[in-house]
Amino acid sequence: MSEQLPVIMVHGGAGKWKDERIPIGMKHVEIAAKCGFEVLEKGGSALDAAEVCTMYMESCGELNAGKGGRWNKDGYHELDAMIIDGEKLQFGSVAAVAGVENPISLARYIMEKTDYNFFAGQNARVLFERMLAEGYRERRYKRSLDPPVHVDSYDIETADTVGCVVVDEKGRIACTSSTGGIPKKTPGRVGDSPVFGAGAYANELCGASATGYGEHIMRVVMSRTAVLYVEQGLDVQAAADKSMKMFEEKTGSEAGIIMIDSKGNHGRATNAKAMPVTIIQGTVQSLVTEIK
Ligand code: ASP
Repeated sequence: MSEQLPVIMVHGGAGKWKDERIPIGMKHVEIAAKCGFEVLEKGGSALDAAEVCTMYMESCGELNAGKGGRWNKDGYHELDAMIIDGEKLQFGSVAAVAGVENPISLARYIMEKTDYNFFAGQNARVLFERMLAEGYRERRYKRSLDPPVHVDSYDIETADTVGCVVVDEKGRIACTSSTGGIPKKTPGRVGDSPVFGAGAYANELCGASATGYGEHIMRVVMSRTAVLYVEQGLDVQAAADKSMKMFEEKTGSEAGIIMIDSKGNHGRATNAKAMPVTIIQGTVQSLVTEIK
């Protein structure tokens, strides 16, 4: 909880994790946090670190995001992601997009290179092709993620939704969320993860990234509410606890949230069985990975 910059906190999703999946989730959030922290150590911005860290989790194939994202009911990926620049109060979001390897990079492209904030479905895919053609990012996978990718079983267990909050040495905050969504979702369903203020939120003071059942998180605008508690004077851990309590009281559901303010104070809370989290603050030696 000490004030030290830079700092990165990464979560691998809150939920009913199967016991055997927990070490896998912990392993991947730890690697993701190291990838992001390396960017910070080399002088990269919070946004750069948040993108790289999230790309790792989308690409590892074992978390519910990007390549490892859950299938929808029709047997293909429809991915949601959001990236936020707290300093500028800006975000880019993408929803229900298929055939995109790293939706977090597409979200950043939307934020930085278009006049808009949020694209969905087939036209988001068109934008992805434009992003590649312009050389903003390179295509990373040969394997096609295009629909339809019919699967025999929808019970294929990846882990869970991913997200991070990062504060760089200048105190700039960035955060992300990226997901394949809830299991067996109906095609076209979009949860909280790409919704500004719900799945994540950041301004110049504090950032938050939430995970859990999107239908419930959206109803209480969880991430924005948690940051508002900090603006009203609570410390970051108290704000995380209060937002979890409010969420549980209003919805009776399960979720988790991670938060960091611009000085590096951090907090997290979950009422779920597990939420793998890694924190690195100041130096990589400070790395801590915990299950909640
Ligand atoms: N929030 C995600 C969604 O509803 C799922 C999760 O965090 O596990 O799509």
